[in-house]
Amino acid sequence: MPFRADLHTHSTCSDGSYTPQDLVELAKAKGLSALSITDHDTVEAYHQLDITQGIQIIPGVEFSTAWKDKSVHILGYGIDPASPLLLAFCAKHQERRKNRNSAILKLLSSHGMAISDKELYTDYKGTIGRPHIADLMVKKGYVADHKKAFQKYLGDGKCCFIPGAQFSLEETLSVIKTAGGLSVLAHPHLYHGVRFVKEVLQQGLQGIECDYACFPASKNAPWHKLAEQLFLLKTAGSDFHGEKKPGIPLGASCMDEKTFSTLIQSL
Ligand code: AMP
Ligand code: ZN
Ligand code: FE
Ligand code: FE
Repeated sequence: MPFRADLHTHSTCSDGSYTPQDLVELAKAKGLSALSITDHDTVEAYHQLDITQGIQIIPGVEFSTAWKDKSVHILGYGIDPASPLLLAFCAKHQERRKNRNSAILKLLSSHGMAISDKELYTDYKGTIGRPHIADLMVKKGYVADHKKAFQKYLGDGKCCFIPGAQFSLEETLSVIKTAGGLSVLAHPHLYHGVRFVKEVLQQGLQGIECDYACFPASKNAPWHKLAEQLFLLKTAGSDFHGEKKPGIPLGASCMDEKTFSTLIQSL
């Protein structure tokens, strides 16, 4: 079995459908050599994980941030999940999300789709955001499916979308560094072109997620080129969410042994 490392996945601690332990078991069953659980704005998975024998686990997190008013996701690898500064920053994110979720629910209610804060927080634990709201919209029969919820109401710029408070890229990078981690730009494919990505990378990132989800080699190639130009680390990950994002299997994008060792040596 060739070496494969998937360094971008989500568990039930954010918007994935597998518990951290089940995710580790699935990764082992799929023959992965290394895995990182990179939940949105939380490292709770690392406090829940029990048994990690048989696979190398790289502690990780995916922070939402903004650069020039545009949403950007930063992966932190090799962080200490017990770092007090990191935990305080995650708590700040939870507070930010609580306020934002309430505001989104108010907007939905004004569009005839009532969902109470209680309904949102009774059903879910960990980081709660738009995907959980979308689930409830489906459950309550307001929309046919998750996709419609985003397309019509929750997607960026739609009528019930609000960005909410944001934490700066600078603060995010500094927290990751203090917690002993490296900062990697997640899914450059999804942003605003090479110029924008280059500008973000030059703010002090150490790496870039060149291979992402199910994107073909042709779509990953520009990011490999940019990583080489800027002497940055390359990473890869599926952004696996289980049934919450159907069609993207665990291990859809993986690192080989050489790229992985380069990253590990830098941690
Ligand atoms: P939030 O962190 O609350 O802003 O939610 C962002 C998450 O919502 C992303 O990680 C995606 O999983 C999901 N998401 C964002 N846009 C869409 C979309 N258009 N369709 C489906 N899911 C989306
Ligand atoms: Zn997600
Ligand atoms: Fe992301
Ligand atoms: Fe992600």
